[in-house]
Amino acid sequence: MSGATCTVDECPREIMARGWCSLHYGRWRKRGTTDRAVRHGNAKLDPEQVVRLRQRHADGRTYGNLAREFGINRASAYQIVKRKSWKHV
Ligand SMILES: [Zn+2]
Repeated sequence: MSGATCTVDECPREIMARGWCSLHYGRWRKRGTTDRAVRHGNAKLDPEQVVRLRQRHADGRTYGNLAREFGINRASAYQIVKRKSWKHV
């Protein structure tokens, strides 16, 4: 054992690749970020998804549902629905 641990804050797991543990490395490979919730999730969506997200909300989905479905955080989902972001779409 090297004793080196994952470079993600407060993650105690052993490094597997790129300075990350298997969990964070896997997350990065899948999503391009080690963050649990994508902080700047808006950039991850394309205009089509924004439109769909708003439609889903109109259909009665909660922000939590939307966040999970679109891979963004609830705050981002809220901002998109309330047009605090993606105003132009
Ligand atoms: Zn980790």
